[in-house]
Amino acid sequence: MKLLITKHIEIDMGHRVPNHKSKCRNLHGHRYKIEVGVDDVVITTPGTSDEGMVIDFGDVKKLMMDIIDEKYDHGFVMYHQDEFADIFDRLLLKGQRIIFVPFIPTAENLAKHWFDLLEAPLKYLKINLHHVKVWETPTSTATFTKHDKRSGKIDTSQKKLI
Ligand SMILES: [Zn+2]
Repeated sequence: MKLLITKHIEIDMGHRVPNHKSKCRNLHGHRYKIEVGVDDVVITTPGTSDEGMVIDFGDVKKLMMDIIDEKYDHGFVMYHQDEFADIFDRLLLKGQRIIFVPFIPTAENLAKHWFDLLEAPLKYLKINLHHVKVWETPTSTATFTKHDKRSGKIDTSQKKLI
């Protein structure tokens, strides 16, 4: 039997969207909710700790805490080509939790980023990562799935900008 299980954590993090047409270009923060979905077969080995589970929820949470919470919670994520990057570099040297990333830190890009970070350690546990879903606000989400990974880069050149 194969099925999908999910686990979520929440973190507080700051960001800014440098080219945004409105207020998102300001330094600000969100309480992010991050959901990881794992779809795999249910373990049937009798007498094992994980019998009847895809993976222990606690093991998924530990990975999420080690890889996401530990590095990003109460931090500020910043595009490394942001015009303010040098200021934030100074803050980093002063011990502030600044995380430079090679992309504009939107919920969409963060979902893909965290998918990429979690995929290998889960694969090491022989567990199949299905998706990472990020709530930037209680009503706004972005989901990156393994199917998005397979389809490769999405051509956005024809997308109409508003
Ligand atoms: Zn924001």
